[in-house]
Amino acid sequence: MSLGDVEHQPYAQRLIQRAVARDRVPHAYLFHGPDGVGKERLAVGLGQLLLCSAPVEQKLEGEQADEAGVERLFAGCGVCEECRAVAHRTHPDLHLVYRQLNREHPDPVVRKRKALEIGVDVLRHFVIEKVGLTPIRGRAKVFVIREAERMTVQAQNALLKTLEEPPGTTFIILLVAALDRLLPTTLSRSQVVSFDGLPTEFVRTKLAELSPDLAPDEVTWYARFSDGSLGHALEYIDDELYGLNQRLLEGLISMVRTVDPSTTAGRRNDGLVKEWTEESKSLGGRYRKRDPDITDTEAGRRGLKSIFQLAAAWYADNLRVASRNESAIVNANHQTEIEQASRSVDVPLAIEAINRIARAERQLDLNANTQLCVETLLNDLSKIARRATAPAA
Ligand SMILES: [Zn+2]
Repeated sequence: MSLGDVEHQPYAQRLIQRAVARDRVPHAYLFHGPDGVGKERLAVGLGQLLLCSAPVEQKLEGEQADEAGVERLFAGCGVCEECRAVAHRTHPDLHLVYRQLNREHPDPVVRKRKALEIGVDVLRHFVIEKVGLTPIRGRAKVFVIREAERMTVQAQNALLKTLEEPPGTTFIILLVAALDRLLPTTLSRSQVVSFDGLPTEFVRTKLAELSPDLAPDEVTWYARFSDGSLGHALEYIDDELYGLNQRLLEGLISMVRTVDPSTTAGRRNDGLVKEWTEESKSLGGRYRKRDPDITDTEAGRRGLKSIFQLAAAWYADNLRVASRNESAIVNANHQTEIEQASRSVDVPLAIEAINRIARAERQLDLNANTQLCVETLLNDLSKIARRATAPAA
């Protein structure tokens, strides 16, 4: 038994179980790690334990205790009224806070805003004003703040006092994917718990269960490309990234194969620039459907970033072939092409390509013109392809 039945997060589980065993659960936790690896499930599991009217304790012995790193495991009972309300997310003392809550704010001006970040109004109304009240029915009040790195500076500053001296029955858990967007003061007032990516095999098994219609090759591709995030993998399936990747790979493969020193890179890339731009727009359309608060421009940018990541995975596969790490090859269904490509795109060239892609991504983050980003990157990549196929001097 583990908190919230979260698997493959032994470090986080151990840290929390030890705090529970000593009856010293920090009032401000910060769960940090990639999206979709169980942070929210574990936070809600901890919330359930804190609210449960009859928590259960399991004694571990010998090997079991060694493996878990603790001698006792605690969890909500799962059957009491409190536990059931938590499971249905209807417990009045479990507060899930997320950026789209602005739509339920009493102020119509706040309600009309795009929910791109967690603003100070949302934080005041849904957290700070509620923190001081006594629990409605449970023994505690638990606040779980999703995407806490999206709190504005003003919101983070407003939360500081609460993080510093929360009332005894209040627990705040910040869920964070990117620590660098938080103020040092927010970080220093919370107990940070790191979450790892999930094992690829575990993600693969889960995906096969959840998406039985996918072919085994596709399931493997999604599991490997998602880099240990089940949540991302499910979104990628929703976005049909596998099919998009097959289309992109044709372009990347032909770039190396059909490079002709007599043609200029610019002319050769026109088709690819158009393809990448169009694909990024259509992917952006899917993102906007999922998150209507993002703008068209932002959606297009995110679409392009995903395409860049697919391209980076292709070059990383070249490295995996070179280092004989075959079991991690993302595009295993194109192994022959990768092996061929890796004969000319050697390790330094593949690394250079990955660096160029990373640079293009950074430029997108700095709001660079997307068209220019695609053109520059494809130009860089085709130069690399030309060097790869040029006979050694
Ligand atoms: Zn219970």
